[in-house]
Amino acid sequence: MKNKILGIIGGGQLGRMTALAAAKFGIECHIFDPDSNAPAFQVCAKSFIKKYEDLEAIKDFASGVDAVLYEFENIPLKSAQHIEKFCVLRPSSFVLSVSQDRLLEKNFLLNKARVNTAKFYECNTYKDLENSYNFIKGTSVLKTRRFGYDGKGQIKLNNDADLDKAWQVIGSNELILEEFIPFKRELSVIVARDMNGKIVLYDVVENKHKNHILDQTIAPAPNITKEVIHAAKIIATKIVTELNLVGLLAIELFELNNGELLVNEIAPRPHNSGHWTMDGCVTDQFEQAVRATLGIELGSTDRVFNITMQNLIGDDIFLVENFINDPNARVHNYGKKEVRAGRKMGHINHIIK
Ligand code: AMP
Repeated sequence: MKNKILGIIGGGQLGRMTALAAAKFGIECHIFDPDSNAPAFQVCAKSFIKKYEDLEAIKDFASGVDAVLYEFENIPLKSAQHIEKFCVLRPSSFVLSVSQDRLLEKNFLLNKARVNTAKFYECNTYKDLENSYNFIKGTSVLKTRRFGYDGKGQIKLNNDADLDKAWQVIGSNELILEEFIPFKRELSVIVARDMNGKIVLYDVVENKHKNHILDQTIAPAPNITKEVIHAAKIIATKIVTELNLVGLLAIELFELNNGELLVNEIAPRPHNSGHWTMDGCVTDQFEQAVRATLGIELGSTDRVFNITMQNLIGDDIFLVENFINDPNARVHNYGKKEVRAGRKMGHINHIIK
């Protein structure tokens, strides 16, 4: 690990926590983000404050590091491919291309990885939307193929009258229509795979959302059956193997009342539902991403504490004062200068004894 330099695309909280994990190993991080206030810049060795489209700057950045990971999916594919001319990108630009586009992603999951998803249809015209809605014959979710997160770029359709409205709001994008899944709960699993194909998995967790934003992660998922854990592990293994992924991947799942699992989406990076691992596991997800990316042997994913992770959104960040002396609370503040409604400002890992 000595003298290794890790490049990170994106300077948000995920990039910041990755850089902090790398620092424990004496690894320097160079971070690329167009926003000079990006919170990860506070904790890195070198900052590249340039546009993601700036291929000259990307070349400079990639030439100075041993390997690059990204902390979010919405970077131009061309820039990701450009990085690969100068150093290794993990996960690869192929993995990125699949995860950037809900249609490619769902097609990959269903036809290549052979795991189950909600029924979905490509919609490029209003006629496509009408046809797809008739195929699904019921409550559906219209989603933009790209750039959606935290419920943005998606609209629930309850009846015929909603089609018009939804089309007016997001019809200028490439879209997919999905059947609405009346799931029992939302689960996720984080998996890492190294260069030699070794796979390690974290415990399956339950995620609770408020206003479409993750509110709490409960680790491990309460009352989860052995069968569901097994199914989640098989799904994760199939996906990372088929993607030939090196790095970290988060998989969001819907658990149905009969115990069946459907994959909602995948994210080839550290994930909010993995923040519990920072205080709950031998090796947390950020350190694991650093290890997988730089070719360091993967660490143990064993759970040492049960954790409830509470996200701090907007003004919630001021609550940290109440927990600073709680021996069972681990406070994480992302150091964002501006508090905004709906913005992820920090989280608290509550140790459950
Ligand atoms: P996504 O951006 O696809 O992860 O969706 C954000 C959230 O919307 C999910 O975590 C679910 O709570 C909900 N959601 C998305 N797609 C569906 C679906 N097909 N059926 C039911 N709920 C959904």
